[in-house]
Amino acid sequence: MSIPPYGQRAVSCPNRNHARLDAPVRHCPQCGGVVNDAVSVKRCPDTVHATYRRQQNRFCIDCGLELIAAMR
Ligand SMILES: [Zn+2]
Ligand SMILES: [Zn+2]
Repeated sequence: MSIPPYGQRAVSCPNRNHARLDAPVRHCPQCGGVVNDAVSVKRCPDTVHATYRRQQNRFCIDCGLELIAAMR
């Protein structure tokens, strides 16, 4: 029952960006959650998303778009 630090919601995501106050990206590549609100949203060209897909990012770290659809 500990209070999450810095007023952030507790997340069940292992990505280390959630633990950082100065994360260099806006969105988490694993859950798509905002990790740093101070980073402005970008409008990404498709080439950027293609690169992130190759890096196995599930979500775009710049705009939060889901890049790899979950298996249904
Ligand atoms: Zn996450
Ligand atoms: Zn994007």
